[in-house]
Amino acid sequence: MSAPFEVTFWGVRGSIPCSGPATARYGGNSSCVEMRCGDRRLVFDAGSGIRQLAATMTGPQEFDLLFSHFHYDHVIGLPFCAPLYRPHTRCRLWGGRTGMETGVRQVLSDFMAAPLFPLRLDFFAGNLSFHDFRPGESIDLGDGIRLQTAALNHQDGATGYRVEFAGRAACYVTDTEQPEGRLDPGILRLIDGADLFIYDCTYTDEEYPAHKGWSHSTWQEGMRLADAAGVGTFAIFHHDPGHDDDFMDGVAAQAEQARPGTIVSRDGMSLML
Ligand SMILES: [Zn+2]
Ligand SMILES: [Zn+2]
Repeated sequence: MSAPFEVTFWGVRGSIPCSGPATARYGGNSSCVEMRCGDRRLVFDAGSGIRQLAATMTGPQEFDLLFSHFHYDHVIGLPFCAPLYRPHTRCRLWGGRTGMETGVRQVLSDFMAAPLFPLRLDFFAGNLSFHDFRPGESIDLGDGIRLQTAALNHQDGATGYRVEFAGRAACYVTDTEQPEGRLDPGILRLIDGADLFIYDCTYTDEEYPAHKGWSHSTWQEGMRLADAAGVGTFAIFHHDPGHDDDFMDGVAAQAEQARPGTIVSRDGMSLML
């Protein structure tokens, strides 16, 4: 049997966490996705969803934390990632240099600083290392895990990831906006033939004109990308906080009709590739 490749969504919202009865079924945590590649654990973004993931991380931990970018919805959970405070944790933190010259360590130091937060980055007692790369680079994570990265079209920059392991590929592509009238060739290359494609679906095509230039995309654009690149499963992600469960049910029904097998991600959902 080949090594397991499992993907779990711990936070599926964009912009801001949104708890409450109207979002209880799809979930209100902001972006955090875990990929387990055999014994290795890769975590994409540290939105508020990382707190629930952290609750499963008991005992000594070793994992990679890879940031798409550093907007609040993708880092706000970092100070609540409990294993980082434990000395037997090893964590490699990765960030793309997306137009700014500040590296991942400095960005997170600036975020965990008075008066914004009471604990500084050096309160983390785990063994943390910080790694900067240029989007477009490929990275060998060892143990047969290869990462391909690509620059996304987002305010302040963002990085998309493709993870290849055990003959399968899963892509995490958020936050981004498509160029007018065509599909982003960099994303098409990144997701080519992937088994799973997780994408920024903040809006619908109908809502998009009112949000043009806001650096986000639509589920229909994601589906066009998935079709053009011959992707296996397309996963709708980074839901707008204003889209309640009933609205998301409507998206799910339309998406299922347009591309059967499409997933509308929910907090706590797991997929085995
Ligand atoms: Zn976001
Ligand atoms: Zn963003």
